[in-house]
Amino acid sequence: MANNRRRHLLHLTVILLLISSVTADDAAVMSKLSSAISPVPPTWKQNGDGYCDWKGISCDNTKRVTSINIPGGSLTGTLPSDLNTLSQLKTLAIQRNKLNGQLPSLANLTLLEEVYLDSNNFTSISSNFFLGLSSLQKFSISDNVNLSPWSIPNELTESTNLQTFEASNANITGSIPDFFDKLPSLQDLRLSYNNLTGELPASFGESEIVNLWLNNQDQGLSGGLDVLSSMSQLSQVWLQANEFTGGIPDLSKCTSLLDLQLRDNQLTGVVPVSLMSLPKLLNVTLQNNKLQGPLPVFGKDVKVELGLTTNSFCLAIPGDCDPQVTALLEVARDIGYPMSLAESWKGNNACGGDWNFVSCDPSEKNVTSVNFGKRGFLGTISPSFANLTSLKTLLLNDNSLTGSIPEILTSLPDLQLFNVSNNNISGAIPVFPPKVNFLRDNNPFLGHNIPSGNTNQPASSSNSSDSDPRSPGKSKGSSGSVGMIIGIVISVLVFVGIILFVSYKCYVKNRYQKFGRVGSPGNGKELVKESELGSSSNGFKVPTELQSQSSGDHSEMPVFERGNVMISYQVLKQVTDNFSDNNVLGKGGFGVVYKGELHDGTKIAVKRMESGVKGTKGLNEFQAEIGVLTKVRHRHLVALLGYCVNEHERLLVYEYMPQGTLSQHLFDWSVHQSPPLSWKQRVSIALDVGRGVEYLHSLAQQSFIHRDLKPSNILLGNDMRAKVADFGLVKNAPDGKYSVETKLAGTFGYLAPEYAATGRVTTKVDVFAFGVVLMELITGRKALDETMPDERCHLVTWFRRVLISKENIRKSVDQMLDTDDEETLESILKVAELAGHCTAREPFQRPDMGHAVNVLGPLVEQWKPSQQKEEETYDHRMSLPEVLQRWQADEGTSRMFDMSFDQTQSSIPTKPLGFSDTFDSTDCR
Ligand code: ADP
Ligand code: MG
Repeated sequence: MANNRRRHLLHLTVILLLISSVTADDAAVMSKLSSAISPVPPTWKQNGDGYCDWKGISCDNTKRVTSINIPGGSLTGTLPSDLNTLSQLKTLAIQRNKLNGQLPSLANLTLLEEVYLDSNNFTSISSNFFLGLSSLQKFSISDNVNLSPWSIPNELTESTNLQTFEASNANITGSIPDFFDKLPSLQDLRLSYNNLTGELPASFGESEIVNLWLNNQDQGLSGGLDVLSSMSQLSQVWLQANEFTGGIPDLSKCTSLLDLQLRDNQLTGVVPVSLMSLPKLLNVTLQNNKLQGPLPVFGKDVKVELGLTTNSFCLAIPGDCDPQVTALLEVARDIGYPMSLAESWKGNNACGGDWNFVSCDPSEKNVTSVNFGKRGFLGTISPSFANLTSLKTLLLNDNSLTGSIPEILTSLPDLQLFNVSNNNISGAIPVFPPKVNFLRDNNPFLGHNIPSGNTNQPASSSNSSDSDPRSPGKSKGSSGSVGMIIGIVISVLVFVGIILFVSYKCYVKNRYQKFGRVGSPGNGKELVKESELGSSSNGFKVPTELQSQSSGDHSEMPVFERGNVMISYQVLKQVTDNFSDNNVLGKGGFGVVYKGELHDGTKIAVKRMESGVKGTKGLNEFQAEIGVLTKVRHRHLVALLGYCVNEHERLLVYEYMPQGTLSQHLFDWSVHQSPPLSWKQRVSIALDVGRGVEYLHSLAQQSFIHRDLKPSNILLGNDMRAKVADFGLVKNAPDGKYSVETKLAGTFGYLAPEYAATGRVTTKVDVFAFGVVLMELITGRKALDETMPDERCHLVTWFRRVLISKENIRKSVDQMLDTDDEETLESILKVAELAGHCTAREPFQRPDMGHAVNVLGPLVEQWKPSQQKEEETYDHRMSLPEVLQRWQADEGTSRMFDMSFDQTQSSIPTKPLGFSDTFDSTDCR
């Protein structure tokens, strides 16, 4: 998809280049420039004569201008709009003047290397300003306070030689784009004093940025600083006066770091010890944050502002914190030092009464309970809980915790209640002493080994405890012996467990029924390889079998849980005939899609993706995302049935849509050798799609967005019922809990202007794309058609012009359509009007998806009056968290997903899970 877009840009570039080479006339532009600015620099002539000899102008031997160098001249006036016809220009240095008006486009000045525009009074930047500047190395536009708000354009990625980009105090809004992996030469990025919002982009981590100045944004940049830890070449980092949160990351790789400005943010947690020993560090500011733990101590050459009173350090003098405080701060670290803890976890006494979520015994000395239930926490369960040796109650339920349960927690001597239910915990199920009430329902991956390494990675990559000699219980001295004792205790427990298992099978069975599936006690790793799964008639392991096998060998395998369906790689390999070319359904931006047929004849579509992401981070996101997506069921959304992770591959399994994509039916109908779609079919497809997208929007307002709405993502069932595919979550889900970062994509031609320019994600971006799809349905033409002349190649631009008269619209209609009867024509006109409305330039002018559905509904019904209303048994107005809550509330009934669907079912309404009427009685309890 991104490739496509690049291709189109290239296309445009070539056209523009052709135009510019024909009209190039440097004398004319130079004459315009000379007349437009005042005072006219000495030796300049307004008629353009002898421009190569003017002061500050250089030319090549064919009298083409290569450099304009007129800085600091108090010049006023505006630049000529066709400045970019100076196609040989390499340097444009006009800084420190009083030039105003619009900055003309520099598009396609492919030789331009240096541009200095700073300290002027420019008022706006023309569109395509940065397009095709393939040689650009240095760019500065700082201190242009009169510029109307603009955002950093994506075209900048074409400037692959860019070394310096300076735009401080230049009225930039929006977020910092995530494209710095594409600018390998960039060393200086200066964007201070703007109104940038959002988080530091992940691609910073793959950049070579040395000096990063992002300080003093109006509203403030937010999110964590973790990405800094992989920017080993950093020297100056100015992030002060923003809204950054979370801990200071481990910067031990940043050995060139000289100057670190972090003051005036919302940073929490313990200052990493590694920061204090960075060899080159000279200047640090930390004041006015919410930093906790011991007072940091820097070398005597380092100039440092700590903020004793404006931070929350445990003591006002250097030295270790109280052991319970230390343990709790480690616990906080492993969940990314959330603000809700930092607000009250101050000072050196965890039992002082005002530490939230912590309770102590009557003596007010020992922490006896930690209650993190339902706090929306991300991250892992800290082994440091084990250092709170009086702990009786530990409630971690209803969060989004990942990683495994630290085995060491089984050693807590007083523990009575341990609740981790409703999280995303994975790994081995530790065996607690019988007196511990260990609740762990609804952790779909518990009992599964999640491959690729360290599942205990903290959410924030802040100082790992190993590198922090202050952590008691982990410090070299005591950890060995504590570890040994714990090891012995565990071995004894495991041994006792085995005895118990053999001798008291009935007892075990009772517990089994009480708490759901448990791992075979006595065997610490009841992780059964997926390939060892007993396979059922259709190749999947179904709940009924799971149940009937409960005393068999593989009874402990929670294959299905809560709609999360992990499917064996072996099975997928087998049913796609070893991913045979013959079974390829299509190729997309994320991988190849194969058709598969299970033993009972059920057909599936398997999307096979190579993962570029290393480690568990991406994996956790992938799992969290599918955890939600497998539960999103709607008649007009392609159902995700399950997934599989195999080394670097990730596979998604979807219901198979036998009639392929809308794209094939509109533009390539020979594929299915079917007649072209009738108008009735087209409106009905549009309505289906509208309903599917409307449902997505209703789930989480702004947060559940289609990634790429286009006809190849509209799939058709047997009865030509349409379903949309490839939707995803974006972060900032309202409760923070189900937020999953998803790379948003959009195909050129369907992109709303505000999304193309600023990457702003709203439901109105989908509405725009939907409008384009409507235009395609009417005209039978692609959103972008390179075979067409320029003024027609971009469907939206062209069709919106067509809309002015009925006659024009009639002429634009797909020739495959029969428009003889009045009724069809009326219907087409209504859809055309809707398409125009949906693609309005300003997002607020576009209707909601609900409106689109209301317009299309009657058009379909006029032909099918008898068609019953959509039988959706759930409330459209529920938000995603509400839907999920309903699912959770219904867990007592069942949360199994019946995989034994048959072929016809793929085109009948699929109802969301968790509603009792949608379940059969198969249940493990
Ligand atoms: P994209 O959305 O970028 O076109 P995808 O990766 O979503 O690519 O899918 C590639 C192609 O595979 C689709 O265009 C379609 O032809 C086919 N395809 C995808 N999912 C299914 C499915 N569930 N049933 C049938 N064909 C599918
Ligand atoms: Mg697709």
